[in-house]
Amino acid sequence: MTQHFDYDLMVIGAGSGGVRAARKSAEMGARVAVVEEAALGGTCVNVGCIPKKLYVYASEYAAAWREAEGFGWRAEGVSFDWETLRDNKTKEIARLNAIYGRLLEAPGVEIIEGHGRLTGAQTVAVGDKTYRAEKILLATGTWPALPDIPGIELALTSNEIFDLPRFPERLLIIGGGYIATEFASIFSGLGANVVQSYRGDLFLRGFDHDVRQFLAEEMRKAGVDLRFNHHVTALESGASGSITAHLSDGEAVFDAVLCATGRRPNIRQLGLEHTAVSLSDSGYLVVNEHFQTAEPSIYALGDMTGGWELTPVAIGEAMAFSQTQFAGNPQSMDYGCIPTAVFSQPPIGTVGLTEEAAEAAGHHITVYQSTFRPLKHTVSGSEERTMMKLIVDANTDRVLGAHMVGTDAGEICQGLGIALKMGATKADFDRTVGIHPTAAEEFVTMRTPRS
Ligand code: FAD
Ligand code: NDP
Repeated sequence: MTQHFDYDLMVIGAGSGGVRAARKSAEMGARVAVVEEAALGGTCVNVGCIPKKLYVYASEYAAAWREAEGFGWRAEGVSFDWETLRDNKTKEIARLNAIYGRLLEAPGVEIIEGHGRLTGAQTVAVGDKTYRAEKILLATGTWPALPDIPGIELALTSNEIFDLPRFPERLLIIGGGYIATEFASIFSGLGANVVQSYRGDLFLRGFDHDVRQFLAEEMRKAGVDLRFNHHVTALESGASGSITAHLSDGEAVFDAVLCATGRRPNIRQLGLEHTAVSLSDSGYLVVNEHFQTAEPSIYALGDMTGGWELTPVAIGEAMAFSQTQFAGNPQSMDYGCIPTAVFSQPPIGTVGLTEEAAEAAGHHITVYQSTFRPLKHTVSGSEERTMMKLIVDANTDRVLGAHMVGTDAGEICQGLGIALKMGATKADFDRTVGIHPTAAEEFVTMRTPRS
């Protein structure tokens, strides 16, 4: 390290990307500090993936109790207590915050609490102190974006929904992306009456069309009131804390409104104006393949640079960053075949190209598709069905995309992600022996192309 710098690397933001970059760079011998204004672990640990998945688990029990009856169980007197779930979640997150602290401290990362602000290309101010760092990494993530609707200040975002003092029996959700769809299933599963309002023809834009349509049918069967081509025009306070929503199809009263209409880079008072860092038209930080911004000493990664806003992507970028900067091993992130799941009920698992994207890319494709009632539900009494789809390049036989809606779709598609990454062909899938009886075996037994 050059003597007049306090650190080799200063990271602003201790979320998925920032923590990994700070830890790994320190393990490689760099002197590192990380600045965090909220809780360690960022969005994923505190108000994202982890508490969300705990709530998904909680909400799955309602259907499980009902289904158990088909197998001879009598689940009488079953009830749900929101406060217990919320408080147990909070305890678990506190445990994880402490683990993140230890993970940073072990290799010697200094944790600086407070809001980090750039004051120059190599200086960061936190409160009344200014630090000099040879390199600065921005990993401040994104923040919920709210539409311009009268009364929108009455709506909650995903930041608040986890810690509601009372369970909302009537919930309106605005949006048709990952967050809106996951929370519609969570709160419906927990017993709320949920209306999900989406402005377009069909939610989850960007996912395979058949997947979107199939999930819509399944969510409706499970009791979510999905409304497409639907708009919320205004929100107003009603009696005893309720909210009256003015909707394109009338007016209705809710206990809470969740607005999940996308997120924007968290660059509030970050001091970018003191640097040459540039933003794209949509407001994300522009970086090169080594995460370097237009200001050579400043780097950025994770959600604030756009693209795949997923924890494993932020972590992968951080690993590549540390290797490049502090291990003399230049690496860039490989964005091909990133698997992802929507933890709706039933969940979506997907990897590779959708049918529409494969066609748009000029592939001549063959599609294999299967819809079936899972074995469990032949006895459970549940009407839930499962759907699987493979997109195959008809010329090369390579599997371009694998998509599923059904129990454990995320778990199943993680494995398929390896196969697709390795360039598996449909013939490779066909010569793979299934595990019987599972739903997943359908992926290796679909033989007849969809007509
Ligand atoms: P973040 O994790 O957002 O971290 C940014 C950190 O910077 C925060 O701790 C913030 O407090 C801090 N910060 C911001 N500005 C400053 C400043 N000026 N000074 C100091 N500190 C600052 N992804 C998945 O892969 N799977 C999921 O199931 C999933 N579920 C999600 C559910 C929800 C409700 C949400 C909102 C997101 C979910 N995500 C999920 C996305 C995932 O959380 C993000 O992709 C990931 O957290 C991005 O990491 P990051 O490091 O870019 O930013
Ligand atoms: P998304 O981008 O997924 O969805 C935003 C939704 O809001 C879209 O349906 C969009 O509609 C709609 N919308 C946008 N602007 C308006 C508006 N002005 N009025 C009405 N509707 C509007 O964002 P999310 O907030 O759901 O999630 C953010 C990101 O977090 C995700 O993209 C994902 O990367 C990550 N995430 C990942 C999860 C996972 O891995 N399971 C879970 C949760 C989040 P339209 O499509 O018409 O533009």
